[in-house]
Amino acid sequence: MKILVLNCGSSSVKFQYIETDLERIDRNQDRRLASGLVEKIGTPEAAASCQAGERTTRDVGLEIADHHAAIAKVVAMLQQTGALADPKEIHALGHRVVHGGDFQSSQLITAEVLKKIEEAVELAPLHNPHNLKGYTVCRELFPDRPHVAVFDTAFHQTMPARAYLYALPYDHFRRHRIRRYGFHGTSHRYVAYRFRQLAERSKEETNLITCHLGNGCSITAIQFGRSVDTSMGFTPLEGLVMGTRPGDFDPAIVLHLMAKLEMTPQEVSAMLNRHSGLYGLSGESNDMRQILESARQGHERARRAVDVFCYRLRKYIGAYTAVLGQVHGLVFTGGIGENAPRVRDLACEGLNWLGYELDRAKNEKAVGVEADISGRDSRVQIFVIPTNEELLIARDTYRVIEGVGDH
Ligand code: ADP
Repeated sequence: MKILVLNCGSSSVKFQYIETDLERIDRNQDRRLASGLVEKIGTPEAAASCQAGERTTRDVGLEIADHHAAIAKVVAMLQQTGALADPKEIHALGHRVVHGGDFQSSQLITAEVLKKIEEAVELAPLHNPHNLKGYTVCRELFPDRPHVAVFDTAFHQTMPARAYLYALPYDHFRRHRIRRYGFHGTSHRYVAYRFRQLAERSKEETNLITCHLGNGCSITAIQFGRSVDTSMGFTPLEGLVMGTRPGDFDPAIVLHLMAKLEMTPQEVSAMLNRHSGLYGLSGESNDMRQILESARQGHERARRAVDVFCYRLRKYIGAYTAVLGQVHGLVFTGGIGENAPRVRDLACEGLNWLGYELDRAKNEKAVGVEADISGRDSRVQIFVIPTNEELLIARDTYRVIEGVGDH
């Protein structure tokens, strides 16, 4: 089955065109027919690129006014690169939707499902409206094809109440749905599945800690294939230090800043979403590659930013070890997790006693590839696994349509 996977943001559309079916899933031989991006939608610098095998196309300075024009461009590029002869070849569409409210799994988008996604807009105002816009355009372009929504939150719906409840007045949970939801679920689920495959372990005998370290960062405790705790919360602000977000901090700081500096809610939101994290601490960049380089050159603030980032990560690894009791695997993924041996090294520093021991040489060598980086005496298998959310979206789309279960 050929599936177009779409991830629509406020000004970008990322896509992959993937062929998958049960046999391909079993053999891990799904085919990526094409992938690409339309970015800076609605600006004079709009750009679009697509790669299909050896063939690539890239245009800049395009007139792409909105998501409709962007998705039409995606289809045109798929045809231009030869990935698609006729749009009718697309069997189904898989849509990344950040917030799925209470949905526990991916869903065929029906009128009822759509209503629930719309209800979740208030829980993810920065993401769901754009995801929905992409879906609405695709429904117009492909009205007779099945559309499936794959949610970032769904994987974490298995968390027990003790993990998802905040110790706030209970009415906030009951009436206003204020609780931990967790995000990056598709990525955590993918690397957990891949870990079990690589380590030849079954779901029922595996406890895992997965670290997704990209621009956004989160860590999840997975018991027997089910998420039992995760660091992002009601929104993707909580937990680990991120590129521009602070992760955990005392909420009274917000009240203090509003009172003392007369900051408005919009200003506080900008501070927490765009001016904090690695960027806020280093004062130079949100990009871990650049910060590691500055730290290496002896820049104090960059060094400290790396230190705070890795210390927070180490604390969470310790906490989730306590949550799980026994841990079989620790997985690093996302741009930083896959490519920054120094961060992995610092995150595991001093955790030998808990059973985590890296092999220095293997860790240094593991950049952007699947690798076992555990030391000889490590009680926990430590892996680097590049994430592949699009692949999981394509597989889920296939499974939902065909009515076949998960791994
Ligand atoms: P997103 O969350 O937007 O998908 P990515 O998963 O691509 O982002 O991660 C982006 C982060 O990965 C950035 O902080 C970037 O600096 C970092 N990164 C990418 N390559 C490297 C590298 N070789 N060394 C260190 N950090 C890297």
